[in-house]
Order: sequence, then structure tokens, then C-alpha cells
Amino acid sequence: MSVLIYIENTEGQLKKSAFEAASYGKAIAEQLQTEAVAISIGNVQDDQLQALGGYGITKVLNVTTDSLKSFVNQAYASIITAAAQKENASVVVLSNTFSGKGLAPRVAAKLSAGIVSGASSLPQINGDTFEVQTSAFSNKAIATASIQSAVKVLTVNPNAFPAKETGGSANIEAYTPDIAQTDLNTVVQEIVRATDTISLPEAEIVVSAGRGLKGPENWAMIEELAQVLGAATACSKPVSDAGWRPHSEHVGQTGIVVSPNLYIAIGISGAIQHLAGVSSSKTIVVINKDPEAPFFKVADYGIVGDAFVVVPKLIEALKKHKG
Ligand code: FAD
Repeated sequence: MSVLIYIENTEGQLKKSAFEAASYGKAIAEQLQTEAVAISIGNVQDDQLQALGGYGITKVLNVTTDSLKSFVNQAYASIITAAAQKENASVVVLSNTFSGKGLAPRVAAKLSAGIVSGASSLPQINGDTFEVQTSAFSNKAIATASIQSAVKVLTVNPNAFPAKETGGSANIEAYTPDIAQTDLNTVVQEIVRATDTISLPEAEIVVSAGRGLKGPENWAMIEELAQVLGAATACSKPVSDAGWRPHSEHVGQTGIVVSPNLYIAIGISGAIQHLAGVSSSKTIVVINKDPEAPFFKVADYGIVGDAFVVVPKLIEALKKHKG
């Protein structure tokens, strides 16, 4: 028996969420008194994979087939399934990222496994039953899902479970599973980066702005603040609807759900549909000139003031602090 963890990378670099998934899987393996095994697909250097040993992974199956350098959902799902069978995995853990969300249901179907998507806590294990908490109704409620299947597939939300160094070392094992031609029908021709900025769903800090900014020409200070903090940028729905910012930045009920350690909301009123996508952020800072803005009710820290005065001062202070 084992716990298998799928380790994601971007262009050969392991993602932060991969270490979180590794720690999450290791914590489950400890409870089950079994081994935590990882699978990596793509050209990741051995020294990076070896670092997973420090997070409690004992073995990494490394798939480096050239045709699989880029993400192909069907093929990756088949490989993870084959690895789970080879390792006799009773639990398969993936990150609840764009690719993890696509892979997990396929893997679960292939393994006839029960699945919980978007786990926000470690499972309570009682015999063969796992009880796992997930957020429901756009973060307004917590659902407890119960799965009893022999094999269980879980996806864990980015930033929900911190990566934890435990020490140890991992064996890297080259793995070349058979891949059916039908799994390779999708061919990635080219990857065009839409932006060089930090990925929003996984960002630890998000600087977000709304209609209070008046127009797209005023986003330079938002980008500068994000750059000083090493943050991703986001926006409210009307801002992306108006074409001031790309739709990929739209957070909320109808946009991306984020749960960073720090969410800074500037000139955003805090409508319920916006809060639905951001309320699980660990710390919320609101900058708004209206003291009655609903966002202040959920803020940990608030600044009542004009964004055009407060944000430049904040940037200046942060720059001074950084030296
Ligand atoms: P506004 O409501 O116009 O607020 C602007 C804020 O800026 C105000 O609080 C104002 O006091 C402040 N302000 C103005 N000038 C300044 C200044 N100089 N300095 C500081 N503060 C200033 N919205 C989302 O964001 N995400 C969603 O996913 C989403 N989904 C929706 C789904 C449905 C079905 C519906 C009906 C609506 C949805 N909305 C969503 C829209 C949502 O209801 C709000 O209309 C929207 O969030 C408001 O955006 P805003 O806060 O940027 O703008």
C-alpha cells in the first residue's frame, strides 16, 4: 500500500503547490503508516526531485518521455493511473489547480475511486472511511465529504496546507509506462505565455483593484505595488467586463477563487459575489474611500482613504523598508 502524489511543474520547475501536495500526501501516509510516493511528468532535474525527500517523499517516479513534456490531460491521467496501480496506492493526491482539476476525475474514474475535490483539511480517517472538509457555496459553508471506496482521490487547495520540511531523502526512479496512441491524440504545438506575472490561483499575495480606480490608465500603481510585494494582480468583475484588465484576473463567484495569505483590495466595494472568491484569504486588507463600504466588514485591516493617495505612499514605504 502507498499514497501517490502527483507533482506538478511549470517548464521543469516544481510548483509551490507541488510541495504542499507532497506534505499533504505525506501526512496521510503517516496516518496510514505507509509510504509517500511521488510521480513527476516532464523534464524536471533530478536535484529538484530529490528536494521532495525533505518533505517526506521516499520515492519519485520520474517520467521524462519527450512527447509528454507538455501537459496532455488524457496521457497524464493514464500515467498517474498506471503508477497508482504499480505502487498499489490506496490514496492519490493532486493539487486543486487547473491541471489537477482536469486530471483527478479521469484518474478516479479509471481507478473506480471515490473523489473529493478542493480539500481544505487533512482527512479524518476512520477505518476505510475518509471524511474530508471542502468549502461549498462559494466559501459560505464547509462541506464534509465522506468516501469509503478502496482507492481514494483527493485534490488539495493551493495555500490550504503548508509545505512542511521533515527531512529525509528520495530515490528517483525512471518510469516509462506504456502510453496508448489514443491518449496522445492531443498534441501541444506551442505554449504562448499570456503574462510573465505570478500565477493568480497560487499566489501568496494578491493585489486586487476595482472600479474605484476609475480607468485602466491608473493600473500602473497597482502593478508597481504588486511588483514590490512579489504579488499577483487581480480585479473585480466590472473591471474585466469593461476590458480594463484581462478576464484571467477576475476573482469572485463567477471568476477565479483565491485563498492567498494576503489579499489587498483597493477601490472594491466588497459585493457578496466578489467576497465569494476571496473570503478564504488568510489576511484581508481593504483600501476604500467610503468608510461604509461592505468590504470593511470582512477586513482584517482597513484604510479609509483615497487610493490615489494611499497606494503611492504604501509603495514608497515598502520600498524604503526593503532598502
Ligand atoms: P463598485 O461597486 O463600483 O465599487 C467601487 C468602490 O471603489 C466603492 O466602494 C468606492 O467607495 C470605492 N472607491 C471609489 N473611488 C475610490 C478611490 N479614489 N479610492 C478608494 N476607493 C474608491 N463581482 C466580482 O467582483 N466578481 C464576481 O465574480 C462577480 N460575479 C457576479 C455574479 C453575478 C450573478 C452578479 C449579479 C454580479 C457579480 N459581480 C461580481 C458583480 C458584483 O455584484 C459587484 O457589482 C462588483 O463586485 C462591484 O465591483 P467594484 O467593487 O469594483 O465596483
